[in-house]
Amino acid sequence: MGNEKLTVKYDFVWDVINDAQKAEVMAMGEDYKAFMDASKTERTCTDEIVRRAKEAGYVDINTVTKLEKGDKVYSTNRGKNVVLAVIGEEPVANGVNIVGSHIDSPRLDLKQNPLIENGGMAMFKTHYYGGVRKYQWVALPLALYGVVIMANGEKVEIAIGDDENDPIFYISDLLPHLAADQNKKTLAEGVAGEDLNPICGTLPVGDEKDANRFKMSVLKMLNEKYGIVEEDFTSAELELVPAGKARDVGFDRGSIAAYGHDDRVCAYTSMAALFAVKECKKTAIALMVDKEEVGSNGSTGMHSKYFANLIGTMIELQKGSCSGFDVDKALAKSALLSSDVAAAYDPNHPTVAEANNTSYLGKGVTLIKYTGRGGKGGSNDANAEFIGEVRKCFKDAGVIWQTSELGKVDQGGGGTIAYILANADMDVIDVGVPVLSMHAPFEVVSKADVYMTAKGYEAFYLR
Ligand code: MN
Ligand code: MN
Repeated sequence: MGNEKLTVKYDFVWDVINDAQKAEVMAMGEDYKAFMDASKTERTCTDEIVRRAKEAGYVDINTVTKLEKGDKVYSTNRGKNVVLAVIGEEPVANGVNIVGSHIDSPRLDLKQNPLIENGGMAMFKTHYYGGVRKYQWVALPLALYGVVIMANGEKVEIAIGDDENDPIFYISDLLPHLAADQNKKTLAEGVAGEDLNPICGTLPVGDEKDANRFKMSVLKMLNEKYGIVEEDFTSAELELVPAGKARDVGFDRGSIAAYGHDDRVCAYTSMAALFAVKECKKTAIALMVDKEEVGSNGSTGMHSKYFANLIGTMIELQKGSCSGFDVDKALAKSALLSSDVAAAYDPNHPTVAEANNTSYLGKGVTLIKYTGRGGKGGSNDANAEFIGEVRKCFKDAGVIWQTSELGKVDQGGGGTIAYILANADMDVIDVGVPVLSMHAPFEVVSKADVYMTAKGYEAFYLR
C-alpha cells in the first residue's frame, strides 16, 4: 500500500470541487445570506423556515389526517422551535434520521422593566442571553426584535434597526482618553453586565419642571406607534441583536460574516438539504430548537417533550394509535446528527487549538466525536460504530469532511443538544460548520463549508 493511502489528509473543499460545484457553492452563499437577513432571532428564523417550507410544498402537520411516503410536513412550537419532515418508505415507528440544530443565538434581552433615564438619555436595561463576551457588544449598531403582549392579550411584533431607514440602538463605551482604569481590568470585567444599557431616546418632552422627560418621550412614541404602555414590557420578549446584513468577506468572497451563524448555519443547511430530498427510506427530519445557548431547558428547548410528542403524533397518523412506549422505541431506533458549529482554527489565536484535532475554514463539514469540558465532562462522546456509519455515508456521497474537538485539552469547553437525544437511547454525533469568532456579534463561515455541510446532511437523510 502506498504511503498516500496510509495517511489521512483533509483537503480544502476548493481544491476538490469542479467549476460547476464552485458555482453551486457561491449560489448557496447568496441564498444563505438572504436567509440570515430574515432570521435575526429564533422567532423570525422560525417564520422564515416555515415560509420557505410552504414554498417547497410542506404543509402544517395539524392539517393532515394521515401520513404517507413522500409527504412533506412541518410543525412549530410557540413560534420559536420548528420541525420539517419528509415521510419515508418505512413507518416512523421504525426510527427516523434527524438533523438537529438550534436557532437561538447569544444576544441582549431587555429586562422586564427596562426603561430608565440618566444624563439626558432614555436607556434600556438588558440581561445578556447565552455566552456573551460583553466587551464585544458596545459601540456597534443594534436592532430590536420581539413581541409585546398587551393587557388585552393582543400581540405587537417589533423589528427596528435592520431597515436602512430605521434608527438603531447603541451601547456607549469609554473613550481611550479616560479608559486608564478600565484598561487595567480583565476582558471579562472591562464591561459589566449592568453596563450594557443601549440609548433608546435623547429628545425630551414637556419642560424643565417635568420629571423623566426622556423616558416619557420614548413611552409616548411607543404608545402612539404600537399602543404600548410601560407595564406591557412585563409580558414582552424583546431582543437586541447586531444590526446589519450578512456580508461577504475577502476580495474573493469565499466567506460570509453574519450575526448568528451559531447555529442558524446548521439550521439553514439542514433545511436546504431536506428540501433536496424527494424520497427516503426512513423519515427524514430537520429539527430546529430554541434555548440551546442557555442549557436547552424550557418548552421550546431540546429537553422539552415537544419533539417526542410530535414523533407520537406522526406514529398515530400512520397507524391510528400510539403509546408512550411506541415513541420511546421509535426514538431509540433513530439517529441524530447534532448539527452545531465547530470552533475553526484561528490564525490570530492559534494557541487555544491543537493543530491535528481542530477544524479549518474551508475543509468541509466537521465531525465532532465529543465536546464537553475537562475529561470530556458532559459530552455525548459518540460511539465509534456510529461515526463509522456516518463517515462511510459521507464518503459514498463525495462529501468533504474533517474532524475537530473544541480547543486543546483543558483550554475550555462547551456543549450541544447531542447528549439529550443520546440519552433517549439514540445514536448521536455532533456534525457541523466551522465558525470563526463564535458568539461574537459577527461570526465568519466559509461558503465551501456551508455547501459541504448541506451535502453531508442530504446524504444522511438518504441513508
Ligand atoms: Mn451552537
Ligand atoms: Mn453557541
